[in-house]
Amino acid sequence: MTDQHTVDPTLPSRLARRVRAAAGAEHFDCLTPFTGGVIATLPVSTETDVRQAYDAARAAQARWAARAVGDRAKILLRFHDLVLAHQDELLDLIQLESGKARRHAFEEVLDVAGVCRHYGRKAPDYLRPRRHLGAIPGLTQSTVLHQPRGVIGVVGPWNYPLSMSITDALPALIAGNSVVLRPDEKAALTALRAVELLDQAGLPRDVLQVVLGPGPTIGEAVLDRADYVMYTGSTATGRTVAERAASRLVGASLELGGKNAMYVADDANLRHAAESAVRSCFSSAGQLCISIERLILHERIAEDFLKIFLGRVDRMTLGADLAWGVDMGSLISPEQLDRVTQHVEDARAKGATVLAGGHARPDIGPYFYEPTVLDGVTATMDCRMGETFGPVVAVYRVSGDDEAIALANDTNYGLNASVWSRDTTRGKHLASQIRCGTVNVNEGYIAAWGSNGSPMGGMGDSGLGRRHGSEGILKYTESQNISVQRGTPFRVPRGVPEKVWARSMARGMRAMKGMRLS
Ligand code: NAD
Repeated sequence: MTDQHTVDPTLPSRLARRVRAAAGAEHFDCLTPFTGGVIATLPVSTETDVRQAYDAARAAQARWAARAVGDRAKILLRFHDLVLAHQDELLDLIQLESGKARRHAFEEVLDVAGVCRHYGRKAPDYLRPRRHLGAIPGLTQSTVLHQPRGVIGVVGPWNYPLSMSITDALPALIAGNSVVLRPDEKAALTALRAVELLDQAGLPRDVLQVVLGPGPTIGEAVLDRADYVMYTGSTATGRTVAERAASRLVGASLELGGKNAMYVADDANLRHAAESAVRSCFSSAGQLCISIERLILHERIAEDFLKIFLGRVDRMTLGADLAWGVDMGSLISPEQLDRVTQHVEDARAKGATVLAGGHARPDIGPYFYEPTVLDGVTATMDCRMGETFGPVVAVYRVSGDDEAIALANDTNYGLNASVWSRDTTRGKHLASQIRCGTVNVNEGYIAAWGSNGSPMGGMGDSGLGRRHGSEGILKYTESQNISVQRGTPFRVPRGVPEKVWARSMARGMRAMKGMRLS
């Protein structure tokens, strides 16, 4: 192992203090995919620790919720500054834990900063009480409050150790909830360092509890106690998480898998589209839920596009370096390498052509795999419908927009899509016909992901609920209608025949039709 593939030896024991785990707890190894070697050990929490984390989080929640929203939001703005100030250290940790290239790790820093800035500024407005027209205008005053749900359970995946571990907890906290967070073991160092920075920004420690341990035991124990479930991961696990939450009548936000398509129409700027496709297919070695796995090309531009795209893919550099300038890093684990290899070999065996890549690269590191472009993928191949979640994209040619839309929608998933056209009106029209939670016009994924005021999430098998914008914070609240009645009680006035009263009520109702409702 080279020097750059190590962490400061004092860091793990310092970070371990933020994990709820008993003295003498078992430890697990944190590995770096760059070499497969151990970089740290951290304690494993037990179900008792999870219970204690919930007890402490519940005890702290009411006091936290009683603080002004503006006060809570300021902590986020301080955290924003701390993340940017410590970005080099965070980038090192993200890279070491995930094996991704530095430029892809940097997208996580940008995401966290964007989410903090958005909710730091907008949360007080999203959460403020709102007046609505009452039952009897003038006499009934109706106000809606957004009450925190209590303790939110957050289970994060491994692919974005900073962003996916922490950003879903932030709006939950600002809405006045406590959070019990279980980051993936492969993301634990980065997640814990982010939690330390939140502490430094002024977050009361007890309102954010961290436990570590395997998903099927500790992750499940976290979600089984939550007043609201925030889960990110595969669709298969998401279904069982949803069933368990539903049986307790607890709400859940589920951010799941995707089989995302990019359509390059016949009037697209091919250079820009090809440039963006390289990033959109191979960012984080394709281990990005919103990355592109299907390239749908209008037949009139297909060969010109492929010439530029394949030229760029050919020049991509792979490396295990913590320096800038590497185009793509490693897959995270042997399981991920197996899955990618299986999809490519299955396609190859069934007649697909490999236009680029198609091989593992153990000469660089144990789980490296080349950026791979497949042609001639058919319905019998696993990568046609199944999410590869790796650096593999399949090319399809279509004769027009209708065929492109039908192909883009030919999946059970509905997470992200991209449409390329110089005519943005055409692009937006095409986008609106694709059944995905986010569709980017003339971008692969960052335009929608980085627009923090707009919702982001999946349709179909890609999930339930949204992150970002008003939906991304209000889901962590329960709306409460407080209606105050003034004047005489709601009854037939004394001395007025009921029939006369009913007619005048009906007249009032007709008049209300023209009134502004809120
Ligand atoms: P996975 O479902 O196997 O695991 C995801 C996380 O859930 C892991 O941390 C795992 O330990 C944990 N887990 C497993 N069983 C659990 C249970 N019963 N209860 C609670 N937690 C449990 O998914 P994976 O294959 O490791 O991750 C890749 C998948 O995640 C891909 O499908 C990808 O698209 C998806 N993903 C989606 C988003 C999104 O925002 N939509 C973001 C990142 C990843």
